[in-house]
Amino acid sequence: MTTAAVIGSGFGGLALAIRLQSAGIQTTMIEARDKAGGRAYVFEDAGFKFDAGPTVITDPTCLEELWELSGRKLSDYVELLPVAPFYRLMWEDGYVFDYSNDDKILNEQIAAKSPRDVEGYKRFYKFSENVFREGYTQLGHEAFLDFRTMLKAAPQMIKYEAFRSVYSMVARYIHDDQLRQAFSFHSLLVGGNPFKTSSIYALIHALEKKWGVWFPRGGTGALVQGMVRLFEDLGGEVRIGDKVEQITTAGNRVTGVRTADGWSGSFDAVVSNGDVVHTYKDLLGHHPRGQAMAKSMTRRSWSPSLFVVYFGLKGERPDVKHHTILFGNRYKELLADIYKGGELAEDFSLYLHHPTATDPAMAPAGHSGFYVLSPVPHLGKLDVDWEKVAPAYADSILEALERRILPGLKRDLVTMRTFTPKDFSSELQAHLGSAFSLEPVLWQSAYFRTHNRDDSLGNLYFVGAGTHPGAGIPGVVGSAKATGKLMIADLLGARVAA
Ligand SMILES: Cc1cc2nc3c(=O)[nH]c(=O)nc-3n(C[C@H](O)[C@H](O)[C@H](O)COP(=O)(O)OP(=O)(O)OC[C@H]3O[C@@H](n4cnc5c(N)ncnc54)[C@H](O)[C@@H]3O)c2cc1C
Repeated sequence: MTTAAVIGSGFGGLALAIRLQSAGIQTTMIEARDKAGGRAYVFEDAGFKFDAGPTVITDPTCLEELWELSGRKLSDYVELLPVAPFYRLMWEDGYVFDYSNDDKILNEQIAAKSPRDVEGYKRFYKFSENVFREGYTQLGHEAFLDFRTMLKAAPQMIKYEAFRSVYSMVARYIHDDQLRQAFSFHSLLVGGNPFKTSSIYALIHALEKKWGVWFPRGGTGALVQGMVRLFEDLGGEVRIGDKVEQITTAGNRVTGVRTADGWSGSFDAVVSNGDVVHTYKDLLGHHPRGQAMAKSMTRRSWSPSLFVVYFGLKGERPDVKHHTILFGNRYKELLADIYKGGELAEDFSLYLHHPTATDPAMAPAGHSGFYVLSPVPHLGKLDVDWEKVAPAYADSILEALERRILPGLKRDLVTMRTFTPKDFSSELQAHLGSAFSLEPVLWQSAYFRTHNRDDSLGNLYFVGAGTHPGAGIPGVVGSAKATGKLMIADLLGARVAA
């Protein structure tokens, strides 16, 4: 029987493990932490359930496909609840924009804010739809292993001016400053600065409009558990709480893995869903390929980190939407500070998650659960002791929330915990504590990103945020499709069509 090991159980690792097992490859998934999910870990404090990471679930079709591979249905495992509006956007001057899937509501708000932008928005949407069709649906799950594949995509990249930034493309169609922010912030959800990230990421707008924004009943963790259950129902094996310490090799082949618990296994192929630098440097540091790749990867540009505060309050907050973005007074300048680093800005733009708005069972009765995140420079660009800085920084964020959206927050606070860049590094082995892996800029995309199959160790593969197409749940689930196709062809050849 053909066998594979998947190191890590993030969304990418889980999706790939399901694909391999569905194709008849006996797959073992090995996770270092005590729960599956990676960045989608779950904290439970005082009866509150906090999803640690992803909360905006888009493109449910890429998830449904994983169940359909074995003739099953996602809805038998997980219930997805629609979220409306997609986001509430709030500015310091009191302006509020509900980013909605309802065209009437959307157009009325644009017309009220800036009448001349109604037509511009329509043209921007058209642009976004075109990039979505050609970029996401055609190239989002193809592995770019050689430069020829990149050349094939070049005409589309030129047509859609991929060398321009998301913001400059939005600004071409939309004039109002706050509406420009409203339609350009999305690349931040995958770690990209809208002023630097390729305009290709403008496709996120069309993707959300086409398939909506969803939240699993029981939280993102319930979706992770559903995927684990599907994998196990298919006969896959899960090892939780056992860190892989080495990928074993023989010449230019990988032969298996060895873990911290002293367990080892031999496999026909090994996939890493872990951080790409961690994989090459720590797991393959004994092999010349690991050393060379680790050296070259550390020279690349990494996405910023995040500072996250998870907190629970007494009382319900029916006026606070499920997803809120609180813009600060500075947009371009603040982003420049975050991406350039040097110091921790005193102001911030925040994302506030309020899961009890959609699923009250995420908190004890009569309570509300939240997390708030602030993008901050990664550890290579900001030299602070996060253990010392965290309490005061968390306090200033909670003060801002109390002032802007959650009056009485401190009075009603039941529980809180923080997750800092240092935790991304120590808990997730994330290089420099980056929250989204390699920065999603054109020169680190597709062929220029970590290849889904290593160029030299022929049976070593990658899946997840550091490989093509990149971060975000649709991205890493797309990477699982790209890597899965390669592996099934490599391991099973003509026996199974991918
Ligand atoms: C706070 C936050 C909010 C986000 N919000 C959203 C959102 O709303 N929507 C969205 O689409 N995306 C969002 N993202 C991005 C998205 O969560 C990630 O891009 C995606 O989940 C990453 O998945 P992955 O497959 O790369 O694996 P990861 O989640 O990075 O998981 C990798 C796993 O590998 C394990 N591992 C590493 N090394 C080893 C080892 N040696 N041995 C064993 N196991 C190992 C780790 O423990 C981890 O469990 C968010 C990210 C963060 C941090």
